[in-house]
Amino acid sequence: MTFDNGRVSGVVANGQHIRARCVISNGNLKSTILDLLDKDDIPEQYRKKAEAVRINNSSCQVYIGIKKNEKIDDIGDLLFTSTADKLDTDLMLAKNVTSRTFSVYYPRSRPGHDRYAIVASTNARYEDWENLTDQQYAADKEHLANTTLDALEKYVPGVRDKVDHIEVATPRTFKRYTLHEGGSSFGTKFEGLKISRGICDAAPGLFHTGSVAIIMSGWLGAANYGVIVANDADRYLATLEETTRAGKGSVATSRE
Ligand SMILES: Cc1cc2nc3c(=O)[nH]c(=O)nc-3n(C[C@H](O)[C@H](O)[C@H](O)COP(=O)(O)OP(=O)(O)OC[C@H]3O[C@@H](n4cnc5c(N)ncnc54)[C@H](O)[C@@H]3O)c2cc1C
Repeated sequence: MTFDNGRVSGVVANGQHIRARCVISNGNLKSTILDLLDKDDIPEQYRKKAEAVRINNSSCQVYIGIKKNEKIDDIGDLLFTSTADKLDTDLMLAKNVTSRTFSVYYPRSRPGHDRYAIVASTNARYEDWENLTDQQYAADKEHLANTTLDALEKYVPGVRDKVDHIEVATPRTFKRYTLHEGGSSFGTKFEGLKISRGICDAAPGLFHTGSVAIIMSGWLGAANYGVIVANDADRYLATLEETTRAGKGSVATSRE
């Protein structure tokens, strides 16, 4: 991020400076503030508050493709399953999986396709996958694929013989592709919203959008929040233009 007179003046991407009077970051809130900005770009107190924001957990997904011409009985679209004897967050996040959600995709859910697919989702901790050697990582993924098929046998008898392709994504996968700290599936916890809303006060001209625990923190919340922030940015630019035309010095931020 570059600044001119305390105001955002663009970004440097792949070594190239792209000038902009306003920048919207859709990256993770914490990496936007703590990695993309220099320490001196923002007030220390704001930076400390950003450091304290908690991120949400990650997950593992096991993608199971079913062979052509194989069929699966209708067992419902979403199956929430658990073998735990109590409701316990640690158990839900544990690598020794007890809770799984199976999403079943039938040809009827994807008109034009005659294939079936199943995705098994489990909550997971990034720390449990972070520092494994390549060999251990591959072994743990294989273990998860096998135990998932074991669990699925109960609902789809003989499923092993029907499987065409199976692939495992872990918190490391999500970190790699989304760059969210800890491979977080749903961005930050609720305190992230206030920090996200305040970014333009801390760094005028910079806005943040994405999953920050706004109502329904998944894609719907992120999309809705994107519209809100786009409006903030638009207002900022309009005020900036007006102020420049009038030769005034101060520009409203997102809150004004
Ligand atoms: C496995 C999984 C399952 C999910 N299931 C559901 C679900 O069923 N329903 C639901 O509502 N939500 C679900 N979610 C959550 C949903 O995907 C997110 O809430 C939503 O995608 C958040 O949008 P976002 O824009 O905040 O972040 P993202 O969609 O992660 O987009 C951020 C983008 O910014 C890019 N980026 C980050 N930093 C940089 C950088 N420095 N430079 C360049 N690019 C950068 C990333 O590569 C990424 O493309 C799921 C998430 C995961 C991981």
